[in-house]
Amino acid sequence: MEGIILAAKNLFYGYNRVPFISEVNLEIREGEFLGIVGPNGAGKSTLLKLLSRALKPDKGRVLLKGRDIFSLSPREVACTMAVVSQNPPLPEMTVEEFVLLGRIPHYRRFQLFETRGDREIAEESLKKVGIYALRNRPLQSLSGGERRLALLARALCQEPEILLLDELTAHLDVAREIKILKLLKNLNRENGLTVVAVLHHFNAASELCDRLVLMGKGRILADGPPEEVMDPERLGEVFGVKLLSLKNPVSGKPYLVPKI
Ligand code: ADP
Repeated sequence: MEGIILAAKNLFYGYNRVPFISEVNLEIREGEFLGIVGPNGAGKSTLLKLLSRALKPDKGRVLLKGRDIFSLSPREVACTMAVVSQNPPLPEMTVEEFVLLGRIPHYRRFQLFETRGDREIAEESLKKVGIYALRNRPLQSLSGGERRLALLARALCQEPEILLLDELTAHLDVAREIKILKLLKNLNRENGLTVVAVLHHFNAASELCDRLVLMGKGRILADGPPEEVMDPERLGEVFGVKLLSLKNPVSGKPYLVPKI
């Protein structure tokens, strides 16, 4: 288990007792940038929920640093793992207050309020994701894309070792999308943050990730480096389109375009 920060061991899960996620095995190494791709309804969000303790598997186990995630308290999990899920309920408070919530798992015994150090980390997180200017706005007044950024700022404020992201950039304009993807890449490279991201665009995933997991119908269909998983035949079949295989002229990474 050396170096494995998060592992799924033979996971099974079904909504309303209808089997769906089946035989999912996954080992995520410390410092890895893992992308999860697949068509709508493939089970990507469900897998992320299972990996983050939001859902309990019917069979199998999720191990966070070698320990069953259900043997840990939510606080213990939150000290190691931060999650940006798709549509979490948002409380009525300012953006800054919301981001500061990320510090709570780290509070010492009997600590009731944030310290100056906590406030500095929150400020830094707001600046990193580019929403410092919005800090005094009510969370509810933000646009869809800005809300996603506030969620990311809170997640970074948690100072996690592993970050789980569910389609974080789906509602962002292209400039913000690039900024955030660069930020994630930097945090991964410079600070050793492990990132597991469900990504809508497989070309972005190919650019960004060391390793891709392709999901379809609740199963892992492929798991490997982008060069291997970005196979136009298999990916095309899973997504139900014909794909042409190109190479990004700058990065040399695989790039697939649909034949229209
Ligand atoms: P993806 O993230 O790949 O689009 P999801 O994990 O969200 O896929 O969903 C996988 C399947 O599970 C879909 O068929 C979806 O309709 C179903 N599903 C998701 N959430 C629920 C739920 N709360 N109750 C019942 N079915 C659900």
